[in-house]
Amino acid sequence: METLEFDIVVVGGGGAGAVLARTLADQTSASVALLEIGPSDAGREEVLDFRRYREIPAGPLGTRIPIVPPERGNGRFSYPISRVLGGSTSQNTCIWFRPPATDFDDWVAAGASGWDAETIFRHFEALEAKIRIETHATHGDFRRVLFDAAEQSGFPRVDFSRPFDAGMGEYRMSKSGAHRQSTSVVFLQPPSSLPANLTVLTETAVTRLVFGADNRVVGVETSRGIIRARREVVLSAGALETPKLLMHSGIGEAAQLQQFGIEVRQDLPGVGRHLLDHPAACVNIAATRSLPEDDLWNYAGVLFERVEPDAPWPDIEIQLGPELFEQQTAPAGYPSAPFGFAAYFTVNRAKSEGSVRLASPDPSQHLTVDPAYFSDPDGYDMRIMVGGVKAARRLFATPAMAGWVREELAPGADCRGDEAIADFIRETVTTGYHPGGTCKMGDASDPLAVVDPELRVLGVQGLRVADASIMPTMVSVNIAPTCMMIGHRAAALIARSLA
Ligand SMILES: Cc1cc2nc3c(=O)[nH]c(=O)nc-3n(C[C@H](O)[C@H](O)[C@H](O)COP(=O)(O)OP(=O)(O)OC[C@H]3O[C@@H](n4cnc5c(N)ncnc54)[C@H](O)[C@@H]3O)c2cc1C
Repeated sequence: METLEFDIVVVGGGGAGAVLARTLADQTSASVALLEIGPSDAGREEVLDFRRYREIPAGPLGTRIPIVPPERGNGRFSYPISRVLGGSTSQNTCIWFRPPATDFDDWVAAGASGWDAETIFRHFEALEAKIRIETHATHGDFRRVLFDAAEQSGFPRVDFSRPFDAGMGEYRMSKSGAHRQSTSVVFLQPPSSLPANLTVLTETAVTRLVFGADNRVVGVETSRGIIRARREVVLSAGALETPKLLMHSGIGEAAQLQQFGIEVRQDLPGVGRHLLDHPAACVNIAATRSLPEDDLWNYAGVLFERVEPDAPWPDIEIQLGPELFEQQTAPAGYPSAPFGFAAYFTVNRAKSEGSVRLASPDPSQHLTVDPAYFSDPDGYDMRIMVGGVKAARRLFATPAMAGWVREELAPGADCRGDEAIADFIRETVTTGYHPGGTCKMGDASDPLAVVDPELRVLGVQGLRVADASIMPTMVSVNIAPTCMMIGHRAAALIARSLA
């Protein structure tokens, strides 16, 4: 088999990895290889047309990782994984938000020095100069009604293209018409536009890291043989696959690795711990009339609200649209209707911490994923979720909505009181598709830190992580733009170290 060698080898061409590889190749003369397990997205309409996002996990380009069922509550959902250039940005719904500055104050306080809002927003600006972001302007009666209802609930109209606080606004989406602006589309296509020092190798599965002397990573084992890295390897395989690659390479909690007969290279107990997410639930309403779908996107607007009045920033995001959200309510036995609408909401700064662990010594097997929703000791996450149901109900009870509501299908009119609402949420909670934090960034005082603020893996030479894994705390909005920012910042950090 061929032996390939590059200065920098980036593993995973998704949200962070594609941005990192392209930016680094543009800004330096280093030879950069981007290794992606999946094929190119070029010419694949089922990937490029964002409205077909549900097809990916069910088809050959995707898979699903089931969760460890909780003792009490919903164990039916799984994490969809896309194996195609662009990663989850080739599967997602393109919603584009910059997090508020307060999120990055918290990152710095958690030991991520240098990741202050002022610095971070420069990376967002650079990305937003390249990526087409469209506002999904509302039209149609039902959409107007939802915005009127928000106003009657006391929420101002907000413009998500500027710093914002509580209020309702129109979606901003990284797309051009029906076509997604994935990181592959924007940063890697067409291949003829790539700089000469960037090599993109698709259908290249990385299984392990290769070590030289002094715990230095010198390359990766792949399905096309060993690929060597003269300077560094960067893992950007996502919050579920990056910790798996580390663990199979002997970097993780020693006792867990030994249990699977894996030689321990570096005992790092934080690998796979501290899994963060945005848990999601919904309120479904049967409508009195049919609600025609929009040509391009079936959701109307997003409402950010404070459940806890003293929260530094809105603590819940509520997405509103003219279709029922039944993936979890239907199997839990809640009724359906021929037409309806839903509020789908997520806890912006959920505090529960789950984990990912090895299930087998075989790298082709999935990890065990335990999101551990509602395990936070003071019950914060559930309080916010219960607040979400109440906020949706308030909205749907405004005069603007009169004439549209036939009945509440889930949780249902007889579900009253915080305990009953909490039971409904436990039964129907699902992932907001935002796993992160499994290789968190921190300083020397943090026993669970996996990378330092330069994204270097602790105790190992020549290895960084740059993807959703490194988030020290969850950001308050949908996370794809933040993952791209992490890739962009990683490029700057590596370029500085090469200079
Ligand atoms: C259904 C869905 C909808 C979403 N909607 C939104 C949204 O509207 N807005 C938003 O902001 N966020 C959304 N997200 C979340 C967002 O897209 C992801 O959080 C983000 O893309 C993660 O970026 P990443 O770089 O960490 O990982 P990924 O984008 O997942 O990239 C990881 C890459 O590594 C590759 N890889 C994995 N293992 C290997 C290996 N062993 N060898 C080689 N390559 C490998 C994968 O194929 C993939 O390309 C959504 C996610 C999903 C799943």
